[in-house]
Amino acid sequence: MGKVIFWLVVFFAFLLVLRLVNVAKQKRNRPAEPPPPGRLPETMVRCHDCGVYLPREEAQATLRGFRCRDGQCETRKSRTH
Ligand SMILES: [Zn+2]
Repeated sequence: MGKVIFWLVVFFAFLLVLRLVNVAKQKRNRPAEPPPPGRLPETMVRCHDCGVYLPREEAQATLRGFRCRDGQCETRKSRTH
């Protein structure tokens, strides 16, 4: 009976060592590096003058809302209205 317990202990010790080795390997293979800086999807806003949708970064914030910064805004505005 003592022999069985001895082998059980050896078996579990072996499993424990295998597990430790695996963890160590994974840590070595995957060093803690920051994730690549993924760009957030751009927020689209609507120009209150001509109704064109454009990225938030390219829009100009006004009191009434957002507006396109390019000179085409007036052209589009006169075309749609
Ligand atoms: Zn516009």
